[in-house]
Amino acid sequence: MRKLIICILIFMFFAVRFWFNAPSEKINVYDHKHNKVIKMDFERYIMNVLAAEMPASFEKEALKAQAVAARTYTAQKIASEWDDPYHKGADICTDSTHCQAYRELAELGENAKKIHSAVDETAGEVALWNGELIRAVFHSASHGYTERSADVWVEDLPYLQSMASPWDSACPDYIYEVNFSADEVCALLNIDNPVIEQITRSGAGGVMSITIGRKEFKGTEVRSKLNLRSTCFTVTEKDGILTFCTEGYGHGVGLSQWGAQGMAKEGYDYKEILRHYYSGITIKKEKYSYLH
Ligand SMILES: [Zn+2]
Repeated sequence: MRKLIICILIFMFFAVRFWFNAPSEKINVYDHKHNKVIKMDFERYIMNVLAAEMPASFEKEALKAQAVAARTYTAQKIASEWDDPYHKGADICTDSTHCQAYRELAELGENAKKIHSAVDETAGEVALWNGELIRAVFHSASHGYTERSADVWVEDLPYLQSMASPWDSACPDYIYEVNFSADEVCALLNIDNPVIEQITRSGAGGVMSITIGRKEFKGTEVRSKLNLRSTCFTVTEKDGILTFCTEGYGHGVGLSQWGAQGMAKEGYDYKEILRHYYSGITIKKEKYSYLH
């Protein structure tokens, strides 16, 4: 009888262990570099994204915050039944300009373990607002305040508001200058003269619109056409050279990676970091229902 009880206890121990360590669901990833679709473990895909999107040298809590953001971003895209012909039938792709960046863990050497455990320790966790998966956008560094989604894109999402992010100046090339000749600016923006008439800024400081050469552009448009690091820029002119000076790096909406790093260094944990950048969210372990 005692032997039977011991056997049952051992069985239960392994059953519980298996349940908690059970592999997650699979997803199909379109590998844009090799033009093929790969089926892989969902959590493994998140590791590959984390390896590419944030330096493995960052603090563990910053990596965990980024892991939850990347998982939520992916889950929300899949759940919204976003079907893009670019993916060739897959759920998501490896193109950083389309979905999220992707890197093999083997390229990281010893640091791969850190990425692995940041994803493992947050396995299945996603950010929700009002019970719905959020659009967990992220960027490298804001310009001291993150931008409201409505000021950069069109939609005003309640969890993507402007938040203070004083840690971001630690980002390399936080302030960055780039020079253009007047002719270059005219050619890139398709205007006749580069005289700036008006600049409208968001509350956070980014350029929302700019009238240059009697033509009005969105800040995001100028950023893209001139390949600027952010929409938070000033322009000065001297001897026919226009200097665009930017602060921060990226679109400035949602989680700031350098902000996450700064908060982690000050002792905040990943949930506190996520709740700071995504207002009013809850973080919950979900059973991958969004994959079906
Ligand atoms: Zn894609």
